[in-house]
Amino acid sequence: MTTAAVIVAAGRGSRAGGATPKQWRRLAGRMVAEHTLAAFRASPLIGPIVLVIHPDDREIAAPLAAEDVMLVEGGATRAGSVRAGLEALAPAAPRHVLIHDVARPLASAALIARVCAALEAGATAAAPGLALSDALWRGSGGEVAGVVPREGLFRAQTPQGFDYRAILAAHRAHPGGAADDVEVARAAGLAVAIVEGEAQNLKITTPGDFARAELHLRGRMDIRVGNGFDVHRFTEGDHVTLCGVRVPHGRALQGHSDADVGMHALTDAIYGALAEGDIGRHFPPSEPRWKGAASRIFLEHAVALAEAHGYGLANADVTLICEEPKIGPHAGEMAATLARIAGVEAGRISVKATTSERLGFAGRKEGIAAMATATLVRP
Ligand code: MG
Repeated sequence: MTTAAVIVAAGRGSRAGGATPKQWRRLAGRMVAEHTLAAFRASPLIGPIVLVIHPDDREIAAPLAAEDVMLVEGGATRAGSVRAGLEALAPAAPRHVLIHDVARPLASAALIARVCAALEAGATAAAPGLALSDALWRGSGGEVAGVVPREGLFRAQTPQGFDYRAILAAHRAHPGGAADDVEVARAAGLAVAIVEGEAQNLKITTPGDFARAELHLRGRMDIRVGNGFDVHRFTEGDHVTLCGVRVPHGRALQGHSDADVGMHALTDAIYGALAEGDIGRHFPPSEPRWKGAASRIFLEHAVALAEAHGYGLANADVTLICEEPKIGPHAGEMAATLARIAGVEAGRISVKATTSERLGFAGRKEGIAAMATATLVRP
């Protein structure tokens, strides 16, 4: 991996309100610094990450250390902290480095990719900027004293990307007092390319910024609901398998697999929530290898597919419709079995049953029907 990241998190910033520095305050369920780290770890373009912290924050930051995340103690100034982060990367000697303010937790993968692409294309330095769209005034004594032409003006953002050796040398040579790393780079004579910034990449400074960032992060959460329905007819036999539990009965259920009508309904509900078809699409009955298969492999596949798309199973509700066998005595074990197979806590799965008042095929005891609802959540 040729691109590293330095995330500067050593500030004591109190303008955002509260006694805790803003990078350790909670935002949409996690600390600001965790969101920022996650944004960089999610990018396939980024290798090692250095999180530069204040010595007083060692304890709160410790859980964030990981194989790809190194904690480094910063200096008294932002520039001092960046330099400490860059020096810590010397053994890794990355070709490029992105330097980012921890207080911008909404930097997107696309933005990170744009900065990396500019460096790959040959720029020694590249930083995101947003062209100004609002008019600019100069004020004096509470009145507008003049209009400032906004042509050619940009709002500077991070991550700012650099050739690693060039920015390290620039920081070592800089006398201090720079507002950001672009200023350090320019002082060393490096040209800095401007790439397109993004409006959502706000820097959390005031309490209002927390509310705005929270709105963005919550807005990304995706909740999906799917339903499944299945029927299997009775045939000769001495037991049925329902929701993974073998229940002795004077008849069996007929089907290509073990005919677990409850597990099939739940599996289809998960596929449905993902808009990924149904069991028949993933396990065609025309293939002999699924004959007599234990239905848990279908449910395991659906859950794994959900996870591959970033979703977890939040809850599921399964209803079995039959006159017999009696489901009530087995319902708890059925729910626990489904939960175990799906890899969720027992309380997230419900199994219940109803008769159909002796009406229809279920009422005539010709078979068992099942319906299921599943909720998937991508945080
Ligand atoms: Mg079925």
